[in-house]
Amino acid sequence: MFFCISIFAMTHTNETTIKENLLAVNARIHKAAATWQRETSDITLVAVSKFHPTEALSDAIAAGQFVFGENRVQEAYEKWPPLKAHHPQVCLHLIGPLQTNKVKQALELFDVIETIDRPKLVDEIIKHLPKLKQQPSFYVQVNIGEEAQKGGVMPAELNSLLDYCAERGLPIAGLMCIPPAEEPPAPYFALLNSLARRHKIKILSMGMSGDFEQAISLGATHVRVGTAIFGQR
Ligand SMILES: *Cc1c(COP(=O)(O)O)cnc(C)c1O
Repeated sequence: MFFCISIFAMTHTNETTIKENLLAVNARIHKAAATWQRETSDITLVAVSKFHPTEALSDAIAAGQFVFGENRVQEAYEKWPPLKAHHPQVCLHLIGPLQTNKVKQALELFDVIETIDRPKLVDEIIKHLPKLKQQPSFYVQVNIGEEAQKGGVMPAELNSLLDYCAERGLPIAGLMCIPPAEEPPAPYFALLNSLARRHKIKILSMGMSGDFEQAISLGATHVRVGTAIFGQR
């Protein structure tokens, strides 16, 4: 990881490019929203900045982007604390797997944790909540394609995990998924949407650089876009 960061620190996508990419992605979001008769304001762009150096993050902030996603707690700590101190409006989402030994750190840095996926993680979060100055929002990650190697709760177990959260007073604001890489994503987006409706959950985090318009057509409220903004990792 350090290796990747130092490489990108030397060759990072320049400021103008990031600004133009953000304009282009926002225009695509606007167009998809119009096509599907949705409000652009109901769709949040989460700029996924994993593996990209702080220079790239500053450029994106300068271009008016304030919502970001990182998938590792450690990497986020190396990059974000000074930037967050300077820009209090930054909203940072954790979109990668969360180990129980990183929970305390994650709760202190992230504004949204998108990857709740098991009772043990809920227990650990509950332990730390009373000590927090500000409580993050929580989403449950659903392993929508039931893939062995992927994080997320299996769709069949979503019900009981949501009950578990409710019984312990952990509010769940959203559902998140990453569909199988080699398949058309639409049926998986539709499935996440129907699960969210069934549980009256309003936030749907789905769609990445290759498929965020489709996700918008199927109800995404948050799209997580990395490559189309920051370039290749
Ligand atoms: C990296 C990542 C993204 C962004 O993917 P791109 O294809 O670069 O847009 C979105 N969501 C998650 C969970 C990721 O890990």
